[in-house]
Amino acid sequence: MPSEYELSDINVKYRHENSVNGESTAKMSNGFYITTAKAFILVFLALAIAVGVGIIVHFAGPARDVECKCTFPTTGDGSSGGETAALEQCKTWASEGNSDICSACPSQGSSATCPTVPTAPTAPTQATKTTTPPQTTPTSVATTTATPAVLDVRLPTALNPLLYTVELQPHMYTMNSEEFTFNGSVRILFHCVEDANNITLHINKLNITGSISVTHENEIEGLYNRHEFDTARQFIIIYTTKELMAGQNYTVDITSFVGPLVPDLAGLYLSSYTRGDEKIYIATSQMQPTDARKTFPCLDEPAIKSEFEVTLVRKRHMKSISNMPITNKIDRGDDWIADKFQRTPKMSTYLLAFIICDFNYTENTTENGVTYRAWARPEAIEQTPYSLKVGVEILTFFEEYFSISYPLPKQDMIAIPDFAAGAMENWGLITYRETAMLYEAGVSSEGNKQRVAVVVSHELAHQWFGNLVTPSWWDDLWLNEGFASYVEYMGVDHVHPDWKMFEQFVVEDLQDVFNFDGLISSHPVYVPVAHPDEINEIFDRISYAKGASIIRMMRFFLGDATFQHGLTRYLNSLRYGAAFHDDLWFALGNQSLAESNPISNVKEIMDTWTLQMNYPVVTIMHGSSGSITLKQHRYLQDPNATDPGKYTSPFGYKWNIPFTYTTSTEKRFDVTSNDVIMMSKDEPSIPIDNANIPAATGNNWVLGNPMQYGYYRVNYDERNWIALIEQLRSDHSVVHAINRAQIINDAWSLARSGDLGMSLALRTTEYLNNEREWIPWSAASSQLGFVGSMLERHPLYGSFTKFMQNKTSSAFEELTMNNTGASHLESYLRSTITSLACSYGIQACVDEAKQLYSQWMRNPNNNPIDPGIKSTVYCVAIAEGGIDEWEFAWNQYQTANVAAEKSRLLSALSCSKETWILSRYLDMAIDPNQIRRQDSVSVIVYISRNTIGRSLAWDFFRAKWDFLLNDYFEGISYVLSGLINNVLASFNTEFELTQLKAFVDSKDDLGSGARAFAQALEKTQSNINWMTANVPVIESWLHDQGY
Ligand SMILES: [Zn+2]
Repeated sequence: MPSEYELSDINVKYRHENSVNGESTAKMSNGFYITTAKAFILVFLALAIAVGVGIIVHFAGPARDVECKCTFPTTGDGSSGGETAALEQCKTWASEGNSDICSACPSQGSSATCPTVPTAPTAPTQATKTTTPPQTTPTSVATTTATPAVLDVRLPTALNPLLYTVELQPHMYTMNSEEFTFNGSVRILFHCVEDANNITLHINKLNITGSISVTHENEIEGLYNRHEFDTARQFIIIYTTKELMAGQNYTVDITSFVGPLVPDLAGLYLSSYTRGDEKIYIATSQMQPTDARKTFPCLDEPAIKSEFEVTLVRKRHMKSISNMPITNKIDRGDDWIADKFQRTPKMSTYLLAFIICDFNYTENTTENGVTYRAWARPEAIEQTPYSLKVGVEILTFFEEYFSISYPLPKQDMIAIPDFAAGAMENWGLITYRETAMLYEAGVSSEGNKQRVAVVVSHELAHQWFGNLVTPSWWDDLWLNEGFASYVEYMGVDHVHPDWKMFEQFVVEDLQDVFNFDGLISSHPVYVPVAHPDEINEIFDRISYAKGASIIRMMRFFLGDATFQHGLTRYLNSLRYGAAFHDDLWFALGNQSLAESNPISNVKEIMDTWTLQMNYPVVTIMHGSSGSITLKQHRYLQDPNATDPGKYTSPFGYKWNIPFTYTTSTEKRFDVTSNDVIMMSKDEPSIPIDNANIPAATGNNWVLGNPMQYGYYRVNYDERNWIALIEQLRSDHSVVHAINRAQIINDAWSLARSGDLGMSLALRTTEYLNNEREWIPWSAASSQLGFVGSMLERHPLYGSFTKFMQNKTSSAFEELTMNNTGASHLESYLRSTITSLACSYGIQACVDEAKQLYSQWMRNPNNNPIDPGIKSTVYCVAIAEGGIDEWEFAWNQYQTANVAAEKSRLLSALSCSKETWILSRYLDMAIDPNQIRRQDSVSVIVYISRNTIGRSLAWDFFRAKWDFLLNDYFEGISYVLSGLINNVLASFNTEFELTQLKAFVDSKDDLGSGARAFAQALEKTQSNINWMTANVPVIESWLHDQGY
């Protein structure tokens, strides 16, 4: 889904970031049917041992179809790992409760005992859910100890929906907006795969106002008996008078239900915008992850796919849009028109979209004939051509890259005035917040432009990863989000090769998530979740950015061609179905074998990156000439942090690492999969002998992880670090920009964890006066930004400010604030340098900013400020000014028509140094008449980043927590983790830690904020340790340097 939030231009962004059923004959290729589980296992084992690769097996039990897909690539040396792997898989199935399989295990010579069948208290289920992949996580992988509310929330599996007929009619035209509602009806045709006495559907916040009936598809006899609600599980259970029989089709009809149409950003909801004095209402939707059930009763799980026939009823002056094109329009009288939409392909409920609005669109057709439209409110329609252009190009690019046509006849994109996330990939109707889709040259910055291109690309990638092939359950959310977050770079690179997207990846995603994933309160990429709170919680940087980073690593060690063909294999084999992560490993592993690639044990490698959290540090010990030795250990920002025990590692926190290196004699950064040395998790140390490795003397160096393809940090002995630092000082251009960024990021992070002395980390900044590329500057500014945030209330801040002025002044003087004609990345660099120069008080920067802003105030219709530096200029002018400057910006905010400009102003308004202005602004943040609900979190976070606003925001946060959790953000509570992570990010005193603990202890239920609070506690402790360990070192270093 939702791609992430962005808090302003570039640089200061924080990330939030957020089947089965029965197709018994669909996937027959390479498969066969047998009748009992035991026989299956025997045959399976025989095949696994004999063939070693590529087995897909199905078998049918007495009451239902079970599908087990297992492909076990042989290991690289050609020996078959099939038997062991098959037994392991057997045990996993056994742990899910299939006793036949369980009893088959020991007969194959395994000494392992079968795990106990989990006995979750079940709702009125007819059978344990049986799917490919396991519903319950194997206990050897990870266990969750949190038990919020009801955990066994899964639907029974007796019935598979084949077709929904849904009608929805919003009422938002004449009455008071508080009274807006929608009503609807639904008919669901089911195939029964297991005898049952009820039909269980999801439902939330809907009143059933009509009748319910159940019939066999060929009979008229009514089978409805009674119904009841299980509100904890959001179920309606409809009991029948007669047993529903396996193999038969049934229909359930709910003739009428009603729900509130309110601006809660979830399910079918109300959005609005103003035109002059008039308020225009629209109805729009956001289903992911669990709000389709708030729109109509349905089986609301990602793997339960069905076809849908949708009808939307609107007033004549409005338009309706859904996933498919309209087939016909029926006049219902009294100005009501019913739009009937073409039947969808088989899809998940969370991908449905329903919109009724008065928007306009621009239109184009892709090379392959897909109609592509970009919708916006009429006033913003001129801002659509850029996203339309990149959308059309990227859709075709993905069709060609994946070798699979986009399967729908049309693709709509629409910019919604109120939207909780960044965008949502609904199949054929992608919804965006305005900043993620609308672009206006001269008003929007290059950062805004890239944001639009990236989000468009991300959502289009989902049309394959997520929509065509869907994770079987939310525990594999990363399959969606990690992929979309990686291939979004490919799409944008296709349209803008000069933007160096693959270099940007390293600072935007990999180094960014390293920070988060260095905490002991992180979580594995594959994470067991059940309750909607837990599902909402994992729309975070791990699912997105770590997912993307390990996919990038995999592309590197497999090679581009194998990766690309393996993805096509994966998508083709599971299209219109659902996937477990092993399906991906097997597709790629089999492709690798087919191409005789040296690395094919993809599952074995990738399990170490997805089933345990955190990541390794590889230490390179440089001994004599011609050899180095490698060791690995787990990186933790605070190695003394107490493990909450929520997750255990099946691998003892050791990884299979695709290692590469270069040296001062080679200086080779164009490494490929042929250069990979696979470090096994089982080897305590690995020697590498190579005549090209120079002696460990003088300024000779070795550098690990060229281009930072691997998801690991690298440490060296002190001499090698100094040699690298000297290389940067004498000629930094021989080290690739990515690795300049890596050296800075690794050194500072290793200093933070105590793996390296802070004095060495500080020295990586020595060369910065000569650095003129954005990527290393971005890495440096985030490390130095952290130091700044730690020191801002410390006596040392004065010296640190002088140091920062020294580092930035030459770049600032050279670049100036004139961005005319700048290239994309030059504009990024100017943005970063101007922001540093002004915030550390370089007078020329501050003066020019104030002058530009006052020029704008004198002539509000002619803004003279280049979009690339607007954020800094606005912020400086408001910080240095008073209420007049603030009010001017507020007025501009209210009248601005370009969302990117609005969002910049919203950020700048938090820069005031007046306490009363900031307090008033905090109150406005939760007044939807002043600031849209979608922007509330951002405003509170912006204020918390202001030195003066920090304690105000914390007080506000504590006072309003219950209201925010239970009222204001109800339905979109996943935004709270972003709020918590950011507001508490700079806490670094014992006093703050005590306050935070007291607050957490005082709350019985932290809702979807639970994980973020645990992380905040750990981070605060880590910050306190950092202060104790590093402030004296920084102080003496700054002193020695003359600051
Ligand atoms: Zn996404």
